[in-house]
Amino acid sequence: MVGAGLAGLTAATGLAAQGAEVTVFEARDRVGGRTRGIEVAPGSWVDAGAAYLGDRHTEVHSLVAELGLKTTPATTAGASRFTLGGAGGRTRPGRFPPLDAVALGRMFDLLDELTAAVRPEAPWLTPDAAALDAVTAGQWADRHLTHPDARLFFPLFLGEMMAADPADVSVLHMAFYLRSGGGLRYLNAFEGGAQQDRIAGGAHQLCERLAAELGDRVRLSSPVRAIHQDEAGVTVRTADGSVRVDAVVVAVPPALADAVDHRPSPSHRRAGERTARGCAVKVHLVYPAPLWRAEGLSGWSVNSEGPLLSTVDDSPDAGGVGVLTGFVTGGEAHRFAARPAAEQRALAVAQAGRLFPHLPEPIGFHVTDWVNEEYSKGCYAALLGPGEWLRHGPRLTTPHRRVHWAGTETSTEYFGLMEGAIRSGRRAVAELLATY
Ligand SMILES: Cc1cc2nc3c(=O)[nH]c(=O)nc-3n(C[C@H](O)[C@H](O)[C@H](O)COP(=O)(O)OP(=O)(O)OC[C@H]3O[C@@H](n4cnc5c(N)ncnc54)[C@H](O)[C@@H]3O)c2cc1C
Repeated sequence: MVGAGLAGLTAATGLAAQGAEVTVFEARDRVGGRTRGIEVAPGSWVDAGAAYLGDRHTEVHSLVAELGLKTTPATTAGASRFTLGGAGGRTRPGRFPPLDAVALGRMFDLLDELTAAVRPEAPWLTPDAAALDAVTAGQWADRHLTHPDARLFFPLFLGEMMAADPADVSVLHMAFYLRSGGGLRYLNAFEGGAQQDRIAGGAHQLCERLAAELGDRVRLSSPVRAIHQDEAGVTVRTADGSVRVDAVVVAVPPALADAVDHRPSPSHRRAGERTARGCAVKVHLVYPAPLWRAEGLSGWSVNSEGPLLSTVDDSPDAGGVGVLTGFVTGGEAHRFAARPAAEQRALAVAQAGRLFPHLPEPIGFHVTDWVNEEYSKGCYAALLGPGEWLRHGPRLTTPHRRVHWAGTETSTEYFGLMEGAIRSGRRAVAELLATY
């Protein structure tokens, strides 16, 4: 197994349960991949990576229960804050932005139409797939969104949903992503939607617990450099040596799968020239308590000026502190990530202070830059640009001889999410059990 994220550990656990001898090679000195916990106060953890799940994420819920974990509702009670298009901060009940409702409604209708037309299990077979895969979401918006409020809100929406700059994704990928995740309203919603709950104590515990059960079958700090196959088996090389195995599951993001020296070479690469990194930097501002709640505010905000394009109250259930999570996405993520740490802090703290005027100086401050993480190369997931779905889609899960592919980017169900990662791991187990 290559990669000890949710996909790799799900696959390893499933194979081990069937009596297979399994070794998991993990490049980092920790398991979890795009899930990671930060202890913001003794015993209180927040998610630096994946955080939210909904009722339809049935595999995550099963795993949560199997591992003895619990979910907790995401915090949304109270009014929202909006700073949009040069207008000062405004407070509104609910989460609908103070923009032209008809223009935004029309935009969501157009997105719904695109989303409904996608063939989720095989997006490359969608009617008009070639045309939809030929243009970027940015070009689509230039053509179809005429009202300034829709043009202002669209990139914020895409940044929040997919951590994508509209210039980076094809229309087909955007529509597929929204469909795969349950439709734009489900993906966007807290209550009754994909962001309804969090895992109490942090999503990183899923992988930590799976890895604990696998014990010394998980080898940390062991990046796989080469996978060489012959008629009789596979040799997997890390810096420390090599092992000989019957089959390999590569459960890493597409660009990292391509970085491995495969012999013979696969007939196609996992990522293409137009596959971009998902762009998200997560910022956590820690306060003595969730002070905004006393003013009737939820901590939720949406902002067209960065760096924090949205904020949410992620205060741990364990109490003790209040945590405001800021999302820096799209092009803003690149600019923010390039700034010195002191400047990042000054900008984020100042913006939080403008959004929630009575906040004191935070007692803790954390920045997690996923864009430049060597072993993630972006998040939430890889972004497929023009032409990529048509080129790569049909071979998304086709094994390369004894090498099988997993990872959230290989799942047409809940692509990019924890749910997709787990489903891909389960699919890889079924493939291997049917073959060997
Ligand atoms: C900021 C952020 C917010 C997110 N929000 C959500 C959310 O709210 N809800 C949700 O469901 N999902 C969310 N996601 C997405 C979710 O985290 C991922 O879909 C999921 O964790 C991917 O799991 P994976 O196993 O496919 O890949 P990964 O987690 O990326 O695991 C791959 C593993 O392979 C390792 N690796 C890479 N190269 C090698 C190599 N050569 N040799 C050995 N090991 C290697 C990596 O270190 C990593 O541990 C978010 C992600 C981020 C970063």
